[in-house]
Amino acid sequence: MARRKSSSPQLIVLSKDGDGHDRRVALPAKDRRLNFGDRWEYAPAPEASNYIQLKKRYELFINGRFVRPRAGKYFYSINPATEEKLAQIAEADAYDVDLAVKAARRAYDNVWSKLSGRERGKYLYRIARLIQEKSRELAVLETMDGGKTIKESRDVDLPLVAAHFFYYAGWADKLEYAFPGRSPRSLGVAGQIIPWNFPLLMAAWKLAPALACGNTVVLKPAETTSITAMHLAEIFQQAELPDGVVNIVTGAGETGRALVDHPKIDKIAFTGSTEVGKRILKSIAGTKKKLTLELGGKAANIIFEDAPIDQAVEGIISGIYFNQGHVCCAGSRLFVQEGIFAPVIRKLRDRISTLRVGNPLDKNTDIGAINSKMQLEKICELVDSGLQQGAQLVQSPARLPSKGYWYPPSFFTGVTASHRIAQEEIFGPVLSVMTFRTPEEAIERANNTPYGLSAGVWTDKGSKIFKIVNKLRAGVVWANTYNKFDPTSPFGGYKESGFGREGGTHGLMPYLALD
Ligand code: NAP
Ligand code: MG
Repeated sequence: MARRKSSSPQLIVLSKDGDGHDRRVALPAKDRRLNFGDRWEYAPAPEASNYIQLKKRYELFINGRFVRPRAGKYFYSINPATEEKLAQIAEADAYDVDLAVKAARRAYDNVWSKLSGRERGKYLYRIARLIQEKSRELAVLETMDGGKTIKESRDVDLPLVAAHFFYYAGWADKLEYAFPGRSPRSLGVAGQIIPWNFPLLMAAWKLAPALACGNTVVLKPAETTSITAMHLAEIFQQAELPDGVVNIVTGAGETGRALVDHPKIDKIAFTGSTEVGKRILKSIAGTKKKLTLELGGKAANIIFEDAPIDQAVEGIISGIYFNQGHVCCAGSRLFVQEGIFAPVIRKLRDRISTLRVGNPLDKNTDIGAINSKMQLEKICELVDSGLQQGAQLVQSPARLPSKGYWYPPSFFTGVTASHRIAQEEIFGPVLSVMTFRTPEEAIERANNTPYGLSAGVWTDKGSKIFKIVNKLRAGVVWANTYNKFDPTSPFGGYKESGFGREGGTHGLMPYLALD
């Protein structure tokens, strides 16, 4: 019910009555007038994709070459906006993973660990420049394979991917200055497992510091978004990165498990769900493998009465609807100070009705496709639980394409702390709105979550920002902005959001032994 296709263009409120029956309330005519999306049609502005050279089949990247998986198994990667099959992706089993780890070990022992930091840095600079050169093509591929809007893949993901390689290239020959008085040494072979929400960016966050510190790598992309990683492998070939320094094994969860369990891995870096993170933690307990985990989040975005409300609403919108809400640090719980609840809700409702949902390759699109059918089902299930538990849902009237996986921008009011939508990660464009009276209450409610990845504070008072930020148990807190990233800035969580930091000098530490 929550997923509406080709709906009539009016704002509706969905809720359950006391008996659990659906109640749909059409908003009064004056509110319907706020449906700007219905009044102003944009002409399509598609990003060109006809020059994109998709391969029919993507093989594994082991020891500098593209190789078939031993079992000859492949699976399809689809475009979630059209449900079209894009290409076949190789499925690596434990045997292929073993080949990749051995290649990485040889490259570590014979080449990479023997190069000076200055030489390693040169390769990283070369990779960064090649990424810049090919950034438009990579952005289009990222959008086709993952469903994110071209606006984001082109203007956010790809510039940050190149920036991470540039940034860590700079550290490669300065490690002893990053940690004065200590002797930084590389660890060996790193196994890196990444999710589907920022495929290339997560690869960059992991590869760049690992290589800068002198480690070799076996990378496992997510099953639904492996294509850009394989194009990155071509860039490694063009940069003449020595064979085996980076190996890429595609496949599902089993491939990741084989990597985690491989005895010759020195370090595991994982970004993904808390559930899989806990499993990894258990399986490497008692081994010498080092581990960093970047897991889920349920961030609080706190808006005080003295905040510039229009600016805050824009930040809240980008905080949750950016990348279809497929963001671990999304501001998915909004805490509004009571005195401004009515205007904030009105502005939010108006604003979501102007967000354009649809073809992710269109440069005007604000919200693209949900990454997979499975993720869409997860979002729908959690939204239904919100309705069952008595919260009210406000949804944009956006018309959704008939093919593909879509969810309209939505928010819940009437949410209590015990609702699943206030506790669990929805990982979609759905916001849970709650209220508070005092700063103390805001802090207490914001910290009332098993996660601790990120948070946001909106206020006119600098002193209030510092007071609140120091009491929030979150690895990253944005003040009067949201979802801003920079390679120099460390990112990571507390509690069930994991441990270890990526980005900045902190991001070097997980890849070094520091005597
Ligand atoms: P996921 O299911 O945990 O998958 C993450 C990666 O782990 C994928 O490559 C996955 O392969 C692989 N995997 C699955 N089972 C495994 C196992 N038993 N052993 C080893 N690897 C395994 O997470 P997701 O659904 O793809 O991603 C969404 C989650 O990531 C959200 O919870 C989000 O908050 C979190 N996330 C966190 C951050 C952060 O920095 N903290 C950043 C982005 C995302 P398959 O793809 O084939 O399943
Ligand atoms: Mg795909």
